[in-house]
Amino acid sequence: MNRILIAEDEERIASFVHKGLRSNGFTPTVVGDGVTAYDYAMSGDFDLMILDIGLPGLDGFSVLDQLRGSGSTLPVVILTARDSVSDTVAGLEGGADDYMGKPFRFEELLARVRLRLRETGSAETTVISHGDVSLDLRTRRASVGHRVVDLSAREFALAETLLRNAGQVLSREQLLSHVWGYDFDPGSNVVDVYVRYLRRKLGPECIETVRGMGYRFTR
Ligand code: CA
Repeated sequence: MNRILIAEDEERIASFVHKGLRSNGFTPTVVGDGVTAYDYAMSGDFDLMILDIGLPGLDGFSVLDQLRGSGSTLPVVILTARDSVSDTVAGLEGGADDYMGKPFRFEELLARVRLRLRETGSAETTVISHGDVSLDLRTRRASVGHRVVDLSAREFALAETLLRNAGQVLSREQLLSHVWGYDFDPGSNVVDVYVRYLRRKLGPECIETVRGMGYRFTR
């Protein structure tokens, strides 16, 4: 129960959301216009739709309207520009479950997607672990062995990304885009700073630095 339909015509955002969802264990499909979005949404092949408002063919409001008019209860998370949030609230009355203002951070979107899926009773893994490090995605708590560790929201998101890809090297750019969003400053050293925080909390050996490439969760 993790098939997500992404209706978004802006390539950069569609690919950002697609990659992020895939690395979090979802099976995403991207469509770039409203007519296809409606057809796919009605197919019964998806558990949730992420729907952009400004779509060619049929705009997001019309897609939603037709969807609900046809009796579909597919959970829908709307994507909209921040300056049209008031339009979006009107859209919510048309049957959307939630909305995100653009620009957004991936972790915010992920939290909403998970919440909507949980409400509709879809089962999804709630604990991920590697070695003796575990992350409970529902309570947002981390533990090392039997010791519970407090992580900030950002630390948790970074730990989650590293753990889901344990054993693989993730570049700073990948981590920045996944944890900090697509509007990040590529010259920022924030990843290194947060890796340091995580090493302090989870144990210094858990994250390996791969020189010139990035970081790998090894523990
Ligand atoms: Ca658009």
